[in-house]
Amino acid sequence: MDFDTIVLKIMETSGLPREDINIKIVDKQSELSGLVSKEGAAYIIAKEMGLDLLQKSNRRLEIKNVVAGVRNLNLTARIFRVFETREFEYKGQKGRVANVILSDGSGTIRMSLWNEQCDHVERLKPGMGIEIFAAYTKENQGKPEVRLSKRGGIKLLETCDLPEITDVPMNGVGGRTTISNISEGGSCEVRAALVQLFETGAFYEMCPQCNKRIKKEDGSFKCAVHGEQKPDFMLILSGVIDDGTGNIRCVFFRDNALNLIGMKIEDALQLRDGFFEKLNVLGTEFIFSGQIRTNKMFGRKEFVVNSVNKVDIRTESDKILNTLKSN
Ligand SMILES: [Zn+2]
Repeated sequence: MDFDTIVLKIMETSGLPREDINIKIVDKQSELSGLVSKEGAAYIIAKEMGLDLLQKSNRRLEIKNVVAGVRNLNLTARIFRVFETREFEYKGQKGRVANVILSDGSGTIRMSLWNEQCDHVERLKPGMGIEIFAAYTKENQGKPEVRLSKRGGIKLLETCDLPEITDVPMNGVGGRTTISNISEGGSCEVRAALVQLFETGAFYEMCPQCNKRIKKEDGSFKCAVHGEQKPDFMLILSGVIDDGTGNIRCVFFRDNALNLIGMKIEDALQLRDGFFEKLNVLGTEFIFSGQIRTNKMFGRKEFVVNSVNKVDIRTESDKILNTLKSN
């Protein structure tokens, strides 16, 4: 900060005329036997008047500029999405993790909250302005991710001048909808993250001729139509997806299950022991299409997925643009 800027700051804050400030500065210099420059003297005066000129500038850090490896990060953002807290067990220890997507108009970033930090999730709603303090960033799947340090926290802002999160209507664009809006019957598409996989079943024997499930009878696998067969395997997975508006149980059969985990059946079979521990898919976003049906046994809605696709950023942004244009 140059001398004139310091003087201006002192004028603004104190309301004193420039001449008075200049006199104070000269006095201070002589008081200190001319050992300080006029800038130095001005700094001292400002400090004596309670002005902190060395305060960090108010320029806000934009999300698009956040990189991995930042320590002591303070960030102002709006909540874009809040995913449900997930429980996990690691080396015999139970833990919790919750992901929140933050946005500030320049970009979005994931914040992951761990264990007791997950308690924040209850207070966080999409659209809210928040300030995160004493946070840090870490690389996760090639992208920076925000985490809170032990002293870190989240402050809810009463007012926030960041752009509102525009809720881009997805209905009617290729059947795209949100989980909170899906209803039974018809097919639909959602963009959501896989947040849970149930560790049941997985591999089933099937007839290589007709791909129907076959069971072992008297020591061999028999298809009702094709007789005794050396079975092929199919993968069936079930889990929960969440798009921030809600979550729903899903069932993935065959290729859809394989697309979800990004593997071929041969590779999946190789992992058969400890299969679920070796998957690294939780938290990944996909575009899911399928049909909603009611599981009569449990009386709950289920999404029977018939296609799983990776999120293609270009197609996604085109879709959003088209929706905006057509509105
Ligand atoms: Zn068969």
